[in-house]
Amino acid sequence: MKRLLTGLKPTGELTLGNYIGAISPLVKLQEDKENEILLFVADLHALTVFQEPSLLRDRIKRFVAMYVACGVDPERTTIYIQSQNEYIPVISWILECNTYYGEASRMIQFKEKSKGKENFTVGLLTYPILMAADILYCDADYVPVGIDQNQHVEIARDIADRFNKRYGDTFKLPSSLITKQGTKIKDLKDPTKKMSKSEENPAGVISLFDDLNAIHKKIMGATTDSDNAVYFDEENKPGISNLLNIASIMSDRDVDDIANEYRNSGYGNFKRYCAEVTVNKIKSIQDRYNELIETGEIDKILKDGIEKSRLIAKEKCELVKERVGLI
Ligand code: ATP
Ligand code: MG
Repeated sequence: MKRLLTGLKPTGELTLGNYIGAISPLVKLQEDKENEILLFVADLHALTVFQEPSLLRDRIKRFVAMYVACGVDPERTTIYIQSQNEYIPVISWILECNTYYGEASRMIQFKEKSKGKENFTVGLLTYPILMAADILYCDADYVPVGIDQNQHVEIARDIADRFNKRYGDTFKLPSSLITKQGTKIKDLKDPTKKMSKSEENPAGVISLFDDLNAIHKKIMGATTDSDNAVYFDEENKPGISNLLNIASIMSDRDVDDIANEYRNSGYGNFKRYCAEVTVNKIKSIQDRYNELIETGEIDKILKDGIEKSRLIAKEKCELVKERVGLI
């Protein structure tokens, strides 16, 4: 059995990018009976940037229902809300005291996110250590991440290794599972940057909660070049290539197959096809979501998930406290 762990921050509504890059690959990993998966809502991580409390509160629950609507099976995958596991921050603090300021401040994401800003929170510096606690409390073997998060899995590994050497064997050393070329979905209005749920301009972002007509419109209005031939070339045709990626994943067809069919039929027809398959897919996800909300299944899923996560964390937390000399 291999244990895998993933979390998504509720900094905005889940996007098509999150579905394609994180949730859908997890649903595939779930098919392998050798994998045991933990999937959480990283609400403590969301707080590194200010969140409107009333919006955050509702969004956290929507995340859980959306995970399930996207195909995550609560019978096979443990789903929980990070902040409901009170042992994780305790472990995180002890890990902080075993992490050097130098190594935390060398994190690329920290450098990028703090660059040029006069005021940023200490949480932006220390969240990789909270992430280490997320990973280490449950002895995760693998953490499926995009290449940009690899450094954070490495620091978790370094901290665990240091702790084990100093206090005796306590944590399993995790590895990242770099999602193969990991299709990065780009912003529809600016296809040189990735689609992000915390993006302020909604025109370039497809939320899984968007009205179906709005999704259609956003795809029809996606920024493209003007040469009007449909083929895949990420460098010179980032907009069309992004739509080809989306259409391919939404329809379960090869990019080449779609490109050949629409090569000379103009952008309008191709975009219409892309919009249609995307709307169909998101419609089925939204239908399932609404069903889950109506039946109230989510409360039971959350109760089971947090119980399991807490049980694992309690045991690890007690061991960690004992190791460092706390009573
Ligand atoms: P934020 O804007 O707050 O950073 P985000 O949309 O980037 O939000 P994260 O919570 O940072 O989402 O990441 C959750 C998961 O979704 C990660 O595994 C990340 O690799 C994946 N992901 C995020 N955006 C995309 C995207 N555009 N294409 C593919 N995968 C993505
Ligand atoms: Mg992100």
